[in-house]
Amino acid sequence: MGDRASVIFAAPDEIAKPSKADVEMRKSRRSCPMELQSTITCPECGHLALEAMPTDACQFYYHCKGCGARLKPKTGDCCVFCSYGLVPCPPVQAGMAARAADALSSGKTTGSLVLVP
Ligand SMILES: [Zn+2]
Repeated sequence: MGDRASVIFAAPDEIAKPSKADVEMRKSRRSCPMELQSTITCPECGHLALEAMPTDACQFYYHCKGCGARLKPKTGDCCVFCSYGLVPCPPVQAGMAARAADALSSGKTTGSLVLVP
């Protein structure tokens, strides 16, 4: 009688590798986890503008101060700061911080729990 119990561990493949921007941001902003200003680069004219980001909402439209173009987020991005800004919007930053903390804590847990007496 083959009474083998097979345990399948599903590996979460939601864990994305940190992007280059992510790593760079973490390197340069270790002491200040939340950045509330972002430099937006206009894709039309290359104009740079430092803008304050709302912490409670995502800014969907942005009017370039250089050429007046109305920018919209790229597909998959929640706001113009995520698409064209140097720093992603605060909700995304919070999400990244939570993920980083998560990865850190799960990496620090003792790998093998020995419960055998
Ligand atoms: Zn522009």
